[in-house]
Amino acid sequence: MTEPARKFIVGNWKMNGLAAGLEEARALAEALTKEPAAARVALCPPATLIERMTRLLAGAPVEVGGQDCHAEASGAYTGDVCADMLHDAGARLVIVGHSERRGAYRETDAMVAAKAQAAVKAGLEPIVCVGESLEERKAGRAAGVVRSQVEGSLPAALKGRPFAVAYEPIWAIGTGLTPTTAEIEAVHAEIRQTLVSLFGDEGRATPILYGGSVKPSNAREILSANEVGGALVGGASLKASDFLVIIRAAG
Ligand code: PEP
Repeated sequence: MTEPARKFIVGNWKMNGLAAGLEEARALAEALTKEPAAARVALCPPATLIERMTRLLAGAPVEVGGQDCHAEASGAYTGDVCADMLHDAGARLVIVGHSERRGAYRETDAMVAAKAQAAVKAGLEPIVCVGESLEERKAGRAAGVVRSQVEGSLPAALKGRPFAVAYEPIWAIGTGLTPTTAEIEAVHAEIRQTLVSLFGDEGRATPILYGGSVKPSNAREILSANEVGGALVGGASLKASDFLVIIRAAG
């Protein structure tokens, strides 16, 4: 019998965190060093904190990732950060295609796929986000929309490379609302089928994370749903004490 895969719990700090916020990362690392978690754990702070967080967490069971990267390797893109820069700063993961970027910066599936490709080229493990709007869900289109996003956002270059998909219904992010367990399972099953059709057997092992208002109070139920391989956590990852409860709920 094969062992069940370790859950993957990723914190997305979004545009939150100054140097003082590193204290939360330190507290998390200390707790997980004292009592190791069953889950794999990562934090994605703002780009300005990546290098300092990487130094702080050296040797601790918490990985560090970026929240976005440019698709190009260098050039006249004022204000942007490329995948090599994130890697150079110490990141080993990067979130791409978060709905806040798809919305605010009009990132298309093709742009997200180009970013994921740049990430793997730089040696980063991409976490590719997908998810439907409330209108799409109400119209019964959630599974179809997500399937098409997965097909369009995962480049062939991911074959043979580690990556994760995060299902994040837009209407659940930062709202306190969550889909029912059955709704999560239905979309995760659709994503799994799509991964297998794109990558063959390899697609059976790709972690599919759920994201959207995961909290200490609902983490255990969400993380025990079928095909939920972990969680992408926004607000509740900012405080080590909350994030730890979620991590411990993963097994
Ligand atoms: C996110 O930003 O990816 C997210 C899931 O946010 P929250 O947990 O705050 O809903």
